[in-house]
Amino acid sequence: MISGLHVQYYFICHRKLWLYSKNLGFEAEDEKVIDGSLLHDRAYKNADRKELLIDQSFKIDVIDGDYVREVKLSSKMTEADKYQLLFYLYQLKKRGLNKKGLVSYTKEKRTEEVILTDADERKLDEIEKAINEILQSEKIPKRLKKPYCRQCAYYDFCYISEGGDT
Ligand code: SF4
Repeated sequence: MISGLHVQYYFICHRKLWLYSKNLGFEAEDEKVIDGSLLHDRAYKNADRKELLIDQSFKIDVIDGDYVREVKLSSKMTEADKYQLLFYLYQLKKRGLNKKGLVSYTKEKRTEEVILTDADERKLDEIEKAINEILQSEKIPKRLKKPYCRQCAYYDFCYISEGGDT
């Protein structure tokens, strides 16, 4: 089953998505996941928070009744963050729960409201199809040359073990 992380990686890098789906070398990002949970705990201190487990597959934080919330360190990956949250809203809608989203960027002290539209739903259907095609492909997608490659858990795999700069 596709998770919110698959959707996020789809926007960041198709190769990362493919490698993640094969469970290849994910240690470096585990720390970020732990940081993320600490961030969540701090951000939700005074909120009425409930965690929903969807199909035993992924968890969604629902706060203050109407909102699903994501907390991010900075707004560098806004499209990826937005679609990850939209994906959660769509999954809840499919299960009869209509919610709105909030993405909070702690460094910028900024929160954005995210509303799921019909157009978003159509786009998410296309994204889900595209993700499945990438996951089923036997061929590893091309590597990117992006500034965030250096922070990626697969940097060594992409740029050291494979060598070269192309
Ligand atoms: S290092 Fe760059 S190319 Fe390789 S998986 Fe990560 S983001 Fe993609």
